[in-house]
Parts: sequence; structure tokens; C-alpha cells
Amino acid sequence: MMPEQDQPMETAIGLEIHIQLSTREKLFCSDPVDFGAEPNSQVCPVCLGLPGALPVVNREAVALAVRACLAFGCTVHPVSVFARKNYFYPDLPKGYQISQFERPLATGGGVRVRMDEEGTEVPIRIRRIHLEEDAGKSIHDRFPGATAVDLNRTGTPLVEMVSEPDFRSPAQVRIYLDQVKRTLEYLGVSDCNMEEGSLRVDANVSIRPRGTLELGTKTELKNMNSFSGVEKALRVEIDRQRSLVARGEAVEHQTLLWDERKAEVRPMRSKEESHDYRYFPDPDLPPLKLTSAFIERARETLPELPEARRTRFIEGYDLPPYDAGVLTSDRELADYFEGVAERAGSAKVASNWVMGPVLAAMKEADGGAGSFPVSPGALAELIGLVEEGVVNRRGAHTVLDRMVQTGRGKEGHPSQIVQEEGLAQVSDSSQLEGWVLETLAAHPEEVRRFRDGESRLRGFFMGEVMKRSRGKADPGEVARILSAHLQGEKE
Ligand SMILES: [Zn+2]
Repeated sequence: MMPEQDQPMETAIGLEIHIQLSTREKLFCSDPVDFGAEPNSQVCPVCLGLPGALPVVNREAVALAVRACLAFGCTVHPVSVFARKNYFYPDLPKGYQISQFERPLATGGGVRVRMDEEGTEVPIRIRRIHLEEDAGKSIHDRFPGATAVDLNRTGTPLVEMVSEPDFRSPAQVRIYLDQVKRTLEYLGVSDCNMEEGSLRVDANVSIRPRGTLELGTKTELKNMNSFSGVEKALRVEIDRQRSLVARGEAVEHQTLLWDERKAEVRPMRSKEESHDYRYFPDPDLPPLKLTSAFIERARETLPELPEARRTRFIEGYDLPPYDAGVLTSDRELADYFEGVAERAGSAKVASNWVMGPVLAAMKEADGGAGSFPVSPGALAELIGLVEEGVVNRRGAHTVLDRMVQTGRGKEGHPSQIVQEEGLAQVSDSSQLEGWVLETLAAHPEEVRRFRDGESRLRGFFMGEVMKRSRGKADPGEVARILSAHLQGEKE
């Protein structure tokens, strides 16, 4: 396939992201929001829309939504209006969903999508962010031949974040989604768990001759269950539209469902499409009014966001952009790194430890930095022991493993473990020389080959000496003594 920029047709993609807010209660009633609860156990007259029940807006949800709007640079409006979006579906028995239509919570704003470490950025404009309630769920696999309905999700608070059709490639979409998710996690607005449906993505896709401004006929893509699924679905749909146009056929405006298993898109049955939602302001809810003091307070309490933190890690700690990207990919990991770096002296050494053995241990334990049993102080202490030559790197890895396994990851423990396990580094040159000489005497054949020019055997000798020392020798000193003796053998 031709690279994107050489194609005669250019792509325009817009995204709608639905994000479940991490509130304790639903948007208009006080039912708990709890994924995986017994079906239909978390419902009440309000979220079921029974006659006479009155919705009351959840201020916690509003506060979280406002944080998201501000983090993406949107203008939060002092007055927004809840409207009814009317349609019938089995998972929406009340016949309408409460959303915002003509007057959304916020408009404007944007995300600068960072395409590489060199700083190539693609600006994506955000059209609007609004609040709405989620619908229930139809369950097709619980009873054979029948569809069941679980209304627990009904009324869960969502924000819908709509972008302008500014994306030119599926790769840009993928990176945007990663950045948006990371920002929302930093804000504590949503857990963004796509498998549990707390983040859902729909896309609209069109193509047009390169250089023209008017958008082509768009299709809407739904049912994508992972970020990689979104990227794949977009590629398939763009190829489909390009082949249609190449054959002289027209792209038809329709809604398409992504089939992950078959890696293809198929049109939604027309019955499933709803064209006229007959929006009108919800008569049960007053306009949502926010004081400028409320909005300003929210702005002041925003945390440092991932992109800003990444820049600070590069400039303040002098870290390579790659390190800064990995370390700020998760807020707790970034906090952890800073805790180590402040105590360890060298930020780059701290970064090597955190990105290497620490991240590997976290992955193995299937937990994040928040639940890692080794405190930043203990890791900094261990790094200090290596710098001072008390323990070599190999011994230090053993100490780290012990701290993870036993949960003894507090300050003071690294030096105790070094003592208890006899891991202290041996730097005494007569002892080291003894091990070197023993090693050379035990391997006359390798010594001869080394003398004949097989210089890569140096690594073999190193390994043998370290084995003899049971890992405790100072590797720098061993290398120096070994060189001296091998040099001697050669001459
Ligand atoms: Zn309820």
C-alpha cells in the first residue's frame, strides 16, 4: 500500500469518546456505580424513569467533568442545559436519555498529539464536551435464544468528548487516545478501563481529494473495543472507501459495526439506526449553572498534567525524552520515580533502576507503583550502596528481589539484607587476584585460544571469576586484574 502522504485521497477522521466518570453515585440518583454487580440490583425509580420520580444532578460528577474540560483547554460555560434524547431501545426502557445538546458544558479546546520524540505535533481541535447519562446493557449470551437486559449501568455519569475531523491517519488517532486516557487518569476523572466499558470510542471517517477542504461523505464506525481495534477498524474502513472511489463508486452515509474477529466492517441494520432524536430541554431539570468561582477553583486544583510533567522531566532532570515518556506514562510511576530521584542524587541512575528491574518486578506482580512493596527511599538507599561499592549491581538485584518477595522494602532494609545474605562486594585485591589466578589455571585451553586472538573470551573469564566469587566480586577491579594477567600470559 502507498504511504498515507502519497495517496491521492486524504483522510478526515473525527472521534466521539464516551468516558464514565469515577463517581460513587449515578448522575441523577444515589444508586451506586459498581461494575459487575448482580444485574438490575442497582436501580431506582429515578434512573428507571418511573412516573413521579425527579432527577437531581450529582455535583461530584459535574466537578469531575469540569476538571476534564479544563485539562483539555475547553471553555466551561456558566450555563448549560440538560436535554432529552428520545429513542427506544431495550436497554433504555424510559424512552429517552438525558444528555446535553444545544448548550453543552464546554466547547473549544484541543489536544496536541505528539507523534515522535523529536516533537512533531498534530493539533486536534475539540468541538465540545458534554455531560450525559449512560444507558443499560443488553446481554445476548446469558440465556440461550433470548436477550436479557441489565439496567445497572443506566444513569452512570458520562462525558462525551467530540473532536473536529482533524485526524489524517489512524496512527494519529491511536496516539491521541493514549494521551487523552493518560490525562484522564492523572486527573482521577475516570479509570478509562476499556474492557469494562468505562471508555468507548466511535469514529466518523471520510476521504477527499488531497488539498480540498470540503469533507467527503462520512461513515460512522462503532463497536471498537480496544485502542488497537480502533486503529485496525479505521485502516479497514479507509481502504474500503478508497477502493470504492477508485472504482468510481460513491461512499454511502451509514453506520458500520467493526467485527474484530473477521477484521471487517458491516453495516448496522437500518432498524438499529435512529435518525431523529427530537431533543428538547428536560422539563425536570433546571439549567446547570456554575459560578466563575467554582470553575476557577477547579482550575487551580488541576494536577500537573502528563505532557507538562514529561517536559519537566526532560528539562529538570536532564532525562532522555524516551525515559521521560515511559516514567510519566502513569502518575503513580512518575511519583515513584521522583521519590527515588530526589534521594538518589543522579536522576539518570534512578531512571535506569525504575525503568529496568523495578518496572519488570511491577509487571510480574501485576500491580502498579502505588502497591509496589519497595519504597522510593529503600530503592534510593540501595542505589547508594552500589555507588559506594558496598554491593555490586548483581548483588543489588538480589537485594531488590528479596525486598519484593518478603515485603521488607523500607529504608534500612537494603543494608540489613546485604549483611544477612553475605552479599557485600569484595574489593580486596589479593582476594580478587586469587580468584583470577584460579580461573586461568582451571582453563588453560581458553587461555591459549585467547592468546591466539580470540579476544571475546574475555567475557567468559569475567563470568568464571564472578562465579568463583559467588557474584560478590567488584566487577571493575576484576576486569583490571584479569587484563593485567591475560596481557602477561600473552607476552
Ligand atoms: Zn437510580
